[in-house]
Amino acid sequence: MSLPDTCPSERLGGSGAAEKPWVWYHSCTMLRYDKIVRLTAFAFACGAIAGLAGGLVFGGGRDTATASDTRTEPGAAITAAPGSGAASSPMTAQVAQEIGANEFGLVPVLEYHKIGTPESQWTRTPANFRKDLELLKGAGFYPINLTDLESGAIEIPAGKSPVVLTFDDSSPGQFRMLDDGSVDPDSAVGIMQQAVKSGDWAPKASFYVLLDVRPDDNVIFGQPDAQTQKLRDLVSWGYEVGGHTVTHLNLKKASLEESRKQLAVAAATIEKYVGGSYKVRTMSVPFGEYPKDDSLLASGEYDGMTYAYKAAVEVSGGSTPSPFTAGFRPLHIPRIQVTGSALQDMIDGFISSPELRYVSDGDPTAISAPKVLAEKLGEPLSDLGRPVVRY
Ligand SMILES: [Zn+2]
Repeated sequence: MSLPDTCPSERLGGSGAAEKPWVWYHSCTMLRYDKIVRLTAFAFACGAIAGLAGGLVFGGGRDTATASDTRTEPGAAITAAPGSGAASSPMTAQVAQEIGANEFGLVPVLEYHKIGTPESQWTRTPANFRKDLELLKGAGFYPINLTDLESGAIEIPAGKSPVVLTFDDSSPGQFRMLDDGSVDPDSAVGIMQQAVKSGDWAPKASFYVLLDVRPDDNVIFGQPDAQTQKLRDLVSWGYEVGGHTVTHLNLKKASLEESRKQLAVAAATIEKYVGGSYKVRTMSVPFGEYPKDDSLLASGEYDGMTYAYKAAVEVSGGSTPSPFTAGFRPLHIPRIQVTGSALQDMIDGFISSPELRYVSDGDPTAISAPKVLAEKLGEPLSDLGRPVVRY
C-alpha cells in the first residue's frame, strides 16, 4: 500500500512553531499503514456492511409518485416539506406507508477532504464530485447539515433520504473565489451551488475549517482577503461551518488546557467571522483522535470563551444510526470517506437492504416508521417529543 504521492508536502502545523511542533496532516502520517489498511479493509467490508446497512427506495421517482403533488416540484420541495400541508394535516399511518417512510433508518455522513486533481485517497476531482452529487440525487438522497442530524431537524421532502456532506481541513478547492468575484465553478461550493440550481438539492453541507496551520492554504480555504466573507456566505446560503480545532490539534495527545483553548478559540473565531447570532454546534475531531473524556468536547471554557459541541464526527465507520434511535452517538458520528467506489457501494448497500435506509415522511413534526424494524436499526428512543406514526 503506497501513500498518496502528494503526502510529504501536506503537513499542517501551528504557526506558533516554537511551542508547537509540526502537526502532520491526517491524510498522511496519522492514516499511514495501519489506518489505510484498516480503511481498505473497511472499503471491502463496506460492500458487505453497507450491503447490510442500506435500503434504496428509489426515492427520486417514488416520492414524486406517492407524496403529495405540492412536493414534486424541486424548488417547492425545499420549502414545502417542513411546514406546509404536512403541518396542517397530521401524518397518518396510511400516508407514511405510501411514502415508505422510515425515520429510524440509517443516515450516511460523507467525508471529503480536497477537491482537485489528480484523484487520490484524499482528493476528489471536481468531475467525480459532480458525479457524486448526481449519483446521490438519482438515488433519492437530499442533503442536510450535521447540526440538523444531531438536533433531529431533518427537513427534507417526503420519500427522500438525508445525507450529510462534510468537508475537513478547509483547503482552497473546497471554496475558491475567482478574480471576477464569482465562486469557482470547479470548487466544491461552486459544484454544490450548481446542483442546487438544477433542482432537487439544497445548499447544505458542513465545513470543518482550520484557523492557524501550515500550509496556510488550509486556513479557511486560503485566499486570506476572502476568509471572513466566505464564512459569512456559507452560512447565509444555508451551509454549516464547524470546528476542527485551531491547528489540527491531536486531542488525544494534547494537554487539557491546550485542548480547551483550541476548542474554545476555534468556536469563538468562527462565530466572530460569521457574525450575527451564529453558534458553532458541531466539529470534526482531527485525525479521529478523541480525548480520553468526551465531556471535553461537549462543553468548556477558556479565557472567557465558551464552547458547546453538540456533535462530532469520526473519520470512518459507515452510516450512522438515526438520531431517533438509541444507537445514535452524537459525539461519535461515523462517516464514509468518499474515495474510489465507496459512494456507489453505499448506495448499492441500500438497494440490497432497503429496510435499513432512512426515508423521510416529509413532516418534521412527526416521526414515521414501519411497525416492524430491522434489528440492525436498534431501539427507537422512547421520548422523541413529537408524535410517532407506525404502520
Ligand atoms: Zn483534518
